[in-house]
Amino acid sequence: MSVVGFDLGSQSCYVAVATGGVIETVTNEYSDRSTGSYVSFGQRLRCAGTSAKNQAITNLKNTTFGFKRLLGLSYDHPLAQTEMSNLINEFVKTDNNEIGYKVRYLDEEHIFTPLELIVAMLTKLKNVAETALQSKVTDCVISIPIYFADSQRRQVLDAARIAGLNCLRLLNDTTAAALAYGFYKSDLPNADSETAKNVAFVDMGYTGFQVSICALKKESVKILSSVADHTLGGREIDYRLLQHFIEVFKVKYRLDINEKPKAKLRLLSECEKLKKLMSANTTEIPMNIECLMNDRDVSGRMKRADMEELCQDLFDKIPVALNKALANAKITAQEIASIEIVGGSTRIPAVKQALQTFFGQEISTTLNQDEAVAKGCALQCA
Ligand code: ATP
Ligand code: MG
Repeated sequence: MSVVGFDLGSQSCYVAVATGGVIETVTNEYSDRSTGSYVSFGQRLRCAGTSAKNQAITNLKNTTFGFKRLLGLSYDHPLAQTEMSNLINEFVKTDNNEIGYKVRYLDEEHIFTPLELIVAMLTKLKNVAETALQSKVTDCVISIPIYFADSQRRQVLDAARIAGLNCLRLLNDTTAAALAYGFYKSDLPNADSETAKNVAFVDMGYTGFQVSICALKKESVKILSSVADHTLGGREIDYRLLQHFIEVFKVKYRLDINEKPKAKLRLLSECEKLKKLMSANTTEIPMNIECLMNDRDVSGRMKRADMEELCQDLFDKIPVALNKALANAKITAQEIASIEIVGGSTRIPAVKQALQTFFGQEISTTLNQDEAVAKGCALQCA
């Protein structure tokens, strides 16, 4: 039976399978390797993944998102309060002080905890793997962020069990990336050699910035240190852009986007698109949105340099995390032989630049930024 690796991302998930010494990521029913981390509820059906993501705007109130970050937190936890304030969904406090997403499902009101939504997501991912493999899937390895506490790790294991999966191991995202790297790199020092190759694995995704300093030899990965900053993800940049355009549109069109959740969500999604375009272009990029609010079309523009200025304090957090990681590993930047990046937000030029400046060397892109974590998970028990 194959072992399957799941990169359970906050915004999107990937599934990798290890069969006969080959590791590959598989596609979902949309022929896409990325599966959105959304669960949507309707009058008759519940769905998870990309079909749920497609309802994020049309079925706004009943489409849940952001549950990975809320997993294992009590309703009153300050972090949970901040997370919930950034989400469009309606939340309630359950009798056990748990977080509940309030939705209408099968024409009734229902409350779902983050755990139940993770179960729905894992069930979906299991299904994607089973369709690709044309066989039943039980054994799996799941990735989680470095900053997950024990209670959150336990909840992922519980969710896997409820979804009918046997989770052989949980792997930190950056550890999974290191395993994938070790698999593809043929020029690592021999197992009996005295010196290992020191590599920094950096993952910046939707919710956080993570780094692991690892010492690699053939068939061995030693994690020297792992540090995470969960206040530095791609979404922080989207929120900055959102705030900027809310202010601009207040003056330009006398519209308060904050008043209309749907308009706010649409603007946020356009800000994310703009951010991605700015990764590949330095020129000014237009943003046009039809009927954003009160039947008004709106437009704005921004160039990469403006975004970098708006977000400079966020990018300044990168060397802070890296310094901590090196100090914990007890090595210097000069002793790092290679910097490997994964996660969607490492495509941002300012992020790459901050890494390059810190380590004084070019970034290496041995790994597939999106798929390496899932592949590392599939490899773990292959
Ligand atoms: P997490 O690891 O935090 O749980 P995730 O694994 O779902 O989240 P990723 O898929 O690694 O996150 O990355 C998603 C983030 O990367 C989003 O914030 C997205 O906007 C950002 N991103 C993707 N492509 C680009 C790009 N070309 N330029 C800038 N940002 C990008
Ligand atoms: Mg991730």
